[in-house]
Amino acid sequence: MEEKRCVTMDKIVNLCKSRGIIFPGSEIYGGMGNTWDYGPVGVEIKNNIKRCWWKRFVQENPSSYGVDAAILMNSRVWEASGHTTSFSDPMMDCKDCKSRHRADNLIEAHSKGAVNPDVMTNEEMQEYIEKHHVCCPRCGNCNWTPIRQFNLMFKTSRGVTEDNQNVIYLRPETAQGEFVNFQNVQRTTRAKVPFGIAQIGKAFRNEITPGNFIFRTIEFEQMEHQWFCKEGTDLAYYDEFKKKAWDFLTDLGFSPDHLRYKDHDKLAHYAKCACDIQYLFPMGWSELNGIHNRTNYDLSRHQEFSGKTMLYNDPLTNEKYIPFVIEYSIGADRLMLATLSEAYDEEALEGGDTRVVMHFHPAVAAYKCAILPLQKNLSDKAREVFSSLSKKFMVTYDDAGSIGKRYRRQDEIGTPYCITIDFDTLENDTVTVRDRDTMEQIRLPISELEAFINEKIAFN
Ligand code: ATP
Repeated sequence: MEEKRCVTMDKIVNLCKSRGIIFPGSEIYGGMGNTWDYGPVGVEIKNNIKRCWWKRFVQENPSSYGVDAAILMNSRVWEASGHTTSFSDPMMDCKDCKSRHRADNLIEAHSKGAVNPDVMTNEEMQEYIEKHHVCCPRCGNCNWTPIRQFNLMFKTSRGVTEDNQNVIYLRPETAQGEFVNFQNVQRTTRAKVPFGIAQIGKAFRNEITPGNFIFRTIEFEQMEHQWFCKEGTDLAYYDEFKKKAWDFLTDLGFSPDHLRYKDHDKLAHYAKCACDIQYLFPMGWSELNGIHNRTNYDLSRHQEFSGKTMLYNDPLTNEKYIPFVIEYSIGADRLMLATLSEAYDEEALEGGDTRVVMHFHPAVAAYKCAILPLQKNLSDKAREVFSSLSKKFMVTYDDAGSIGKRYRRQDEIGTPYCITIDFDTLENDTVTVRDRDTMEQIRLPISELEAFINEKIAFN
């Protein structure tokens, strides 16, 4: 039986705006399509997501190493990677209303997912659109230009004078920063293959398609892990990373019913196999992350274009080879949207009220606890508790409105524990701790709060 979820994209967008999680980018100027700004609560949640990922894939893996490469790279990098010539989408312009659309998306929407444009050539897509009179979603006419490939890389220029400009690109993926540093990392860490290089950083794509909030934006963060291994071991590692990527999500609290593997129908010419993990977003099943067996294509291309060797010298066998790469790549913002969607719940309360509650994993929640003095004249004690706990983790403080309203506000941003300071606190140094999910309350000595919360917020 199909599960009924109360979450919708509108509810998420509205909650994000009203609770300081995510605002429309450049809002006071009327916004800027497909850009979003993280607010005080959102920046904490996103940082926590990134921390959990880094902990799992770098900190806990003795053979993985982090880098933070430059966003602006030598343009030859993009020639070697193939992005200059082939990182493009098939676009059509409506001759009547001048709007631009992706041909594959038009077909997918028109056929309601029954036709898979990923396996079609441009000619086949063009033919399908003409034959089935696929109309412009904006004006309803069917008057298209031929399909043209539209490069997704953002161009900028570098140069001291106007007439002496070099074209450079904002990186469309972080992966190349890991590949070009393969030798640097191997040499300085003395890592032996297999080993991994990970990076979290911004990437930019001139996406035309409407974004579904932060699902598809023109500026986003990627969390990528490249695993360098010997040919022959690659398929086993590919399976291992598929599992690791899945486990990371379920450990963050994702229901396996909302996740599924999806093998790619059309492989990039260099890829041996590729698979996405899809999540059941409010708008339907869509890619959350990718796992790709990229063979030794990337390092071979960089060797060819840079003239620098990418050979690895196996110290045990004395063999020299260019390693294969298993790539695991996930968007931090896309994972943020999935996390928000998964956490969202509306619960009926006694007395007919409803509460909106975000059931985040405590490691992901913006604030680990909220300090709530029952009355304003308890603020000295409450501030004292705030000062000591905030040295250890993010804590918020709220003394405005009834205690019930304050609980609701914390539920809406997913704060796992509310700590109420009352008159007994002044007498015996104990506080009430309310659990976000069960709403149950226990009494604890202030001296035990730090250990209690630390244990609950661990991501293992
Ligand atoms: P899609 O098919 O959705 O365009 P993709 O297959 O091009 O994605 P990759 O190039 O494999 O994506 O990028 C790896 C990950 O980066 C994706 O799984 C997704 O989580 C994230 N990502 C890619 N493009 C965007 C974007 N425009 N906005 C936000 N996240 C993105």
